[in-house]
Amino acid sequence: MQSAISLESIQNFEGKYPKQLRLLFFTEMWERFTFYGNRALLLLFMVNYLHFDDAKGNVIYGTFQSLIYAMPVLGGMLADKLLGQRRSIIWGGILLAAGSFVMAIPVKESFFIGMAILVVGNGYFKPNISTIVGNLYKAGDGRRDAGFSFFYMGINVGAMLGGILCGWIGQQYNWHLGFGIAGIFMILGLVVFVKNQSILGPIGLPPSEAILRAKTKLGISKELLVYGLSLLAIPVFIVVLSYYKIYSYLINPFGIIALLYVIYVASKLDKAAFLKILVALILIIFSSLFWAFYEQGGGSLNLFADRNVNMNVVGFHLSSAAVNNSINSIFVIALTPFFVVGWIWLANRKKEPNAAVKFALGLLQLGLGFYIFVIGAKFADNGMVSMLFFVLGYLFMSSGELCLSPIGLSAITQLSPPKMVGLMMGIWFLASSYGQYLAGIIGSLMAIPSDAATGKSMSAIESLAIYSNIFSKIAWVSAGSGILLLVISPWLKKMMKTIE
Ligand code: GLN
Repeated sequence: MQSAISLESIQNFEGKYPKQLRLLFFTEMWERFTFYGNRALLLLFMVNYLHFDDAKGNVIYGTFQSLIYAMPVLGGMLADKLLGQRRSIIWGGILLAAGSFVMAIPVKESFFIGMAILVVGNGYFKPNISTIVGNLYKAGDGRRDAGFSFFYMGINVGAMLGGILCGWIGQQYNWHLGFGIAGIFMILGLVVFVKNQSILGPIGLPPSEAILRAKTKLGISKELLVYGLSLLAIPVFIVVLSYYKIYSYLINPFGIIALLYVIYVASKLDKAAFLKILVALILIIFSSLFWAFYEQGGGSLNLFADRNVNMNVVGFHLSSAAVNNSINSIFVIALTPFFVVGWIWLANRKKEPNAAVKFALGLLQLGLGFYIFVIGAKFADNGMVSMLFFVLGYLFMSSGELCLSPIGLSAITQLSPPKMVGLMMGIWFLASSYGQYLAGIIGSLMAIPSDAATGKSMSAIESLAIYSNIFSKIAWVSAGSGILLLVISPWLKKMMKTIE
């Protein structure tokens, strides 16, 4: 993969966006289509098809999501050191498609095998595409946040389409068909990326082709060995997902080792660079709390929508899976232009808040979103909440997300020295991983028991009381942690002032 285009010429682009961003937008869009298409169905499939109870379904869902976001630490590191981002994206994409196709096989056993393949694929794919986006910009280029917001919009276009199409087909027609369709779109994304990747010039190439091609003692190249070893991880994840209770013993040591490793690598940097990594880590910790609440979206909110939200709109009965899994993305897409213009407007007046303040705003709005679900419950009719409250709550969850998620991706690429970006991007997603894990546990607190003898579940009024109680706790903790971050933000600003 020789490149004719220089890094300089890419980073010296004119206008608002580098033209390479479009390729990354579409590749990520189709990958997220696959991911969110699958995500829309997972919990519903486990509860309605595999007949797992709510608690078991939620914890397996949380474990899967947590594994999904933990593996980018390894995927990011491998790309930094050996594969480069582009090969990692291609290998990850192949696995993501393969995982979806396995889940499309209509036997129960295919489910865990498919999920395990998705975990490995996502580890390769997810951090590296964001790292490439960051590489399109020079250090200090003020257009970076806008670029990430645009990229984030691509994520959500894919998530929306995947959520609607796979959610609807899977829930209304055939679960396995829903999974299979998700895989087809990953192939589309891969083809787009492979055909056009040359416009990335040297970005994302491996640090050394020679090392990659060097034969190992097994007679195969290092590159093939890495691919082969990652396949061996699949049975390990099948075991972890099947015996999900062991996961808590794995995630904590993994997280601690990864964190210590980052601190060790960062300790070799100069003081200013070290302080920036420290700020990144503090932001990452708050983001993990954000995700723990926000990710109820794929878990308890899916079931809440199914059981307690009135899905009848002007004579039509909507699919709760499709509504719940697309509404958030629709808001993100609709709100992004306002945020991009708003941040630039504030920046021109030297009033743009720093990343820590934006994160705090994110947590406050997330809290408000959940509070609106609680208010909706107070006005419920026979345990059924009006869709209006559901939509309004999601509006604030989504605007909160826009203050945190794309800003976090951008901040990571800015706060990390070039050789550590892949690793730090992995750690950013590791925070999501912790969040997802906690989300599963929080979700299981809202498990709606069903009578084992009769198979009958609780009434809507009873289940609403359970949801509303936990949603209100989420609202207060989220808002409280937003205020805490706001209080310490001047101190964080000083630590990262070189990027202001
Ligand atoms: N919704 C975003 C995405 O899919 C962020 C996910 C996350 O980091 N938890 O990329």
